[in-house]
Amino acid sequence: MSIKEHGFPKVDRHSQVLSYLVRHGANSRKSIADNIAVTGATLTRIAADLIQKGIVYEKGTSTNGAVGRKEIYIDVVPNYCYALGLDVANRYLRVTLLNIKLELIVMKEWRYRVLTQSILDEAIAFLRSLIDEYGKEKILGLGLLGQGYIYQNQFMSLPVRNIYWQIAQKIDVEIYCMNNIRGIAVTQSFLNDDERSFFMLHYGPGICTVMVQDGCIVNGYHNKAGEIAHTILYPESKQVCSVCGKKGCLESELSFERVAKCADPMIDESYIDYELLEKACQQDDGRALDRALVRLAQIVSILIGFSDPQKVLLCGEIFTNSDYYNRFSRLLLDSNNTLEAQNIMLVENYSEKRWKSAGIVVLNEYFGPRPRRFLT
Ligand SMILES: [Zn+2]
Repeated sequence: MSIKEHGFPKVDRHSQVLSYLVRHGANSRKSIADNIAVTGATLTRIAADLIQKGIVYEKGTSTNGAVGRKEIYIDVVPNYCYALGLDVANRYLRVTLLNIKLELIVMKEWRYRVLTQSILDEAIAFLRSLIDEYGKEKILGLGLLGQGYIYQNQFMSLPVRNIYWQIAQKIDVEIYCMNNIRGIAVTQSFLNDDERSFFMLHYGPGICTVMVQDGCIVNGYHNKAGEIAHTILYPESKQVCSVCGKKGCLESELSFERVAKCADPMIDESYIDYELLEKACQQDDGRALDRALVRLAQIVSILIGFSDPQKVLLCGEIFTNSDYYNRFSRLLLDSNNTLEAQNIMLVENYSEKRWKSAGIVVLNEYFGPRPRRFLT
């Protein structure tokens, strides 16, 4: 019997309690009741039902400081079910298994210069072995994240485009597919109740932007809403973009590769990560990178004016350098009259979120703020 057949109860309040526990961790019945706005009696009844079904358990007591009273904490049973994840990037591929306590139970990485079919075959075989080991009935789905542009489940920016279809043929669990930075945006919104409307920029080595309104990614007709990286903004340019193949798109002028080559024309690597960019910037005192930040801030400001987000979230290794972070924030503040300094933020624990995001994309379907597929 699958989880969908027997598992979570239909009643919407049950979903709300589970969603609260998955996203916030162990809590007392009273605190959950207060947060999801139900009476104590209703919560007691729902908790009893969930405990009886084996999804939730009583974790122990904790003293409520304000009242000095002991309270019993309840929590989800960690390995009640799992989410599989596959994150495919230009230089690595990761398979993960996340439980509903958001703990990484399995993490395996392949590193490469170019993704090949045989690496993908190995990863798919590994996913299948995990399904056998943990039980198909306990796996809620597979979160499939890919670097670059994804159109109709085709990975347009990767050397193997039909990854989704290959997996769908070999693996019998539901697949939730999206761009990897969108996966980070879903993760951010899943983990933070107060981050419901934001604009996210990921810089390095390319440019990726995501708009989230009221907890949902704005997709648009072509799944490209808010994405401006491959819009032609430099029609006179001779720079051909390695992703879209056109001349003069934003990314062709502002990618790490282009900025590094402006700073240090001798550089001959085509894949420039943040470390190589820093090295190249020593050759021109950072002038090329600063020009890029100025231009990027102008473009981002237009999108901020358009989408009116509550917050602007910056991610990518470059922004962990406080000089670049501060410079970029200042540029945004100077060109937006609605934005305040405290609304610009760095995405914290980025690498941990990156590891978990493929699984969280699945959990978001079931335990997100608005679980739309909650179980038959
Ligand atoms: Zn392009």
